[in-house]
Amino acid sequence: MTQVDTSPSNFIRNIIDNDLKTGKHQMIQTRFPPEPNGYLHIGHAKSICLNFGIAEDYPNALCNLRFDDTNPLKEDVDYVRAIKEDVLWLGFKWNGNVRYSSDYFERLYAYAVELIENGKAYVCELDAEQTREYRGTLTKPGKNSPFRERSVAQSLDLFARMRAGEFAEGSMMLRAKIDMTSPNMKMRDPVIYRIRFAHHHQTGDKWCIYPMYDFTHCISDAIEGITHSLCTLEFEDHRPLYDWVLANISIECKPRQIEFSRLNLQYTLTSKRKLSALIDENIVTGWNDPRMPTISGMRRRGYPAASLREFSKRIGITKQENTVELASLESCVREILEEKSPRAMAVLDPIKVIITNYDVDKNETLMAPNHPKDESMGTRSLPFSRELYIDRADFKESANKKYKRLVLDKEVRLRNAYVIRAHDFTTDAEGNITQVMCTYDAQTLGKNPLDGRKVKGVIHWIDAKNNNKAEFRVYDRLFLIDNPASSENIKDALNPDSLVTVHGFVEAGLLHVEAEKAYQFEREGYFCADSKDSTAEHLVFNRTVALRAAF
Ligand code: ATP
Ligand code: MG
Repeated sequence: MTQVDTSPSNFIRNIIDNDLKTGKHQMIQTRFPPEPNGYLHIGHAKSICLNFGIAEDYPNALCNLRFDDTNPLKEDVDYVRAIKEDVLWLGFKWNGNVRYSSDYFERLYAYAVELIENGKAYVCELDAEQTREYRGTLTKPGKNSPFRERSVAQSLDLFARMRAGEFAEGSMMLRAKIDMTSPNMKMRDPVIYRIRFAHHHQTGDKWCIYPMYDFTHCISDAIEGITHSLCTLEFEDHRPLYDWVLANISIECKPRQIEFSRLNLQYTLTSKRKLSALIDENIVTGWNDPRMPTISGMRRRGYPAASLREFSKRIGITKQENTVELASLESCVREILEEKSPRAMAVLDPIKVIITNYDVDKNETLMAPNHPKDESMGTRSLPFSRELYIDRADFKESANKKYKRLVLDKEVRLRNAYVIRAHDFTTDAEGNITQVMCTYDAQTLGKNPLDGRKVKGVIHWIDAKNNNKAEFRVYDRLFLIDNPASSENIKDALNPDSLVTVHGFVEAGLLHVEAEKAYQFEREGYFCADSKDSTAEHLVFNRTVALRAAF
């Protein structure tokens, strides 16, 4: 592999800068070319941010969204819909209409005819096994197909009849006539058209022959006037074929293909095929399961679009293969959420607290800031009364000094409320704590307690009368091993605790919460209401990410 500049300033942008400086191009045109055979994942986000990012940053630069739809058997309009939605959600806009390679089928056909006319392509009738045998191996040159020297007229006739549906699938194919002895296997008379009696999501039943990727992609790029065709490293050995096709047809535009390394992310699968298998095996609930590394899954989980863009920026673009730590994605998510999300309180594993010196009939409304550092986010009211819920993990009968929460006969501050002291508790038959009895000090409300006493611990709480019940889905990484793609049986690599569902309470004010809107539930993490399952009758919150240092 050739080593190119791997500095984070981005070798592709350097090439573009140079092409503008030398006057090779006056404007830059890129494209993002997904195949609509699955949902986009975090790896695609890298490619989207690269291609659309260039269009945003350079004057007179545009980026097309083009569906590379030459394989009707695996494709679907629902994928087309989802991909468009994901690109828009990430905050990008494509140039003009959405494009499809299938828009160009007629022109692609004409270019194939042109190749035949110029003796650069032929109809071959070898079957699949013979084709493999004739192709040779990496160490053994291939040999010419017996159909290679058939006349131009005969190939033209057969190709037209392939299109007309006269021949069975697999009985014929159109091949480029290049070099069966090339050390690059891709150049050994590659197939450029095959027969497929398949319904296409865009062209219906119009075609029964479909062009192959390598023939389609370069011509589609050239038709659209793409200047820089950016793709991942596995296409490096396709590049000579990309250039060969364009050099041998009458098209003026010659886009330059440039490869960069794929994003590999720790604990994460980045292959549509493997992600699709997780759905088929019921390991996850669908493409947008919040544990999926798909754009729609991460969105549903609560990752802000800005965090994916920031992540793409930080990982940079190079030719170096590497694996990025999951922690670096999560820290982008936290950084954005820390600043943007209002605070609220939620108790995920409740036990009751009774404030024995608080009037049975009394109800108060306390005020709390929505963000500790951003006054513009305003305040909210918190109902407070004699009975509350706190988290089970926040009370102990006895504990050492490191435990800065509620301990029997000790004090703790309730966030945005009073200091309380525990004086008794009850347990059930198994010894689990059921209630904690406390007293409160009415003088301790607000930021500067009048008595000036120092209480180190602060815990969160929810009023027991005035609240909302909620289901919390606490997500963790889906796989326990660094590179799940390498495991023989994917099920062995799964994290059994990737989803833990618990039931508790959130503040009364969160009844009509907007789906996907981020909150920091104090001391618990960042959460958002689930866009699919949460309703006012049954609130469901997804944990987007834990707080860095929980306690
Ligand atoms: P998959 O392996 O998941 O099926 P793909 O490469 O086949 O992915 P396409 O729909 O063909 O998916 O990809 C559209 C674009 O996204 C291509 O230009 C491809 O190079 C890029 N892309 C796909 N996966 C990654 C990744 N992990 N990192 C960076 N770019 C990627
Ligand atoms: Mg692909």
